[in-house]
Amino acid sequence: MPELPEVETIRRSLARRLVGRRLAGCRVMGPHVLQGCRPAELRQLRGLRVADLGRRGKYLIIVLEKGVSLVFHLKMTGQFLLGGAERPLDRHTHFVLRLAGGKEDLRFRDVRKFGRLRLVRGREDELESAFSGLGPEPLQLGRDEFARLVKGRTGRLKSLLLNQSFLAGIGNIYADEILFAARLHPLASAAGLSPAQRNRLWRSLRRVLGRAVARGGSTVRDYRDADGRTGLFQIEHKVYGRASLPCRRCRQPIRRIVVGGRSTHFCPRCQSS
Ligand SMILES: [Zn+2]
Repeated sequence: MPELPEVETIRRSLARRLVGRRLAGCRVMGPHVLQGCRPAELRQLRGLRVADLGRRGKYLIIVLEKGVSLVFHLKMTGQFLLGGAERPLDRHTHFVLRLAGGKEDLRFRDVRKFGRLRLVRGREDELESAFSGLGPEPLQLGRDEFARLVKGRTGRLKSLLLNQSFLAGIGNIYADEILFAARLHPLASAAGLSPAQRNRLWRSLRRVLGRAVARGGSTVRDYRDADGRTGLFQIEHKVYGRASLPCRRCRQPIRRIVVGGRSTHFCPRCQSS
């Protein structure tokens, strides 16, 4: 599933191509994609210009003029493609935004069909209310604020990092990589962290996510940005997907366990506490 770095990469590639463009219309081939809106409402967007591209956690936001936004969640396999309008649509394309004054259209493609689209009304600064229950953005969080958030929490670190109401945007890959960077065991209790460990966790999540954004995210299966490019951060994965391979730091084999139903990778020596 695309996580914060992948969605941010998609946001940047779409912003370059879409901002300022006017919508010529849209087509809904897969109505299952629509969450709380009807195809007729989407057809009324014709003529509006794309004002901005936003992201909140794993949500991608196409901000249009006149206080209308399209909010996408890519879930497992959602992808955006900017395609030539003359190129045939495949059966996995569920939604198309036609762009005026060019030969391209924006296609939302999703093999597993879990991805969703919402229509949200309200100015850009009012959008936050559409994300009630979502925790803060990890890359905008100061050290003291992070410490306060962690202090109130119980449960295991791996589950806490995956909890979107704690922090928005972290999924299975980056939770494992962040915990390795912080040298913390995925089953360690959040309540038991020392101040030094909390700091290490805060620094690690900024470093890992920041570096992953800079590398265009991780391509482990079918992730591509809107220009069709793969990410590069998977080359730097220290633990995720490396079960039984030697730890890049200490050569001990990486272990894989299941935490809360999610496959979890860690080094038993580097992450002993
Ligand atoms: Zn190690």
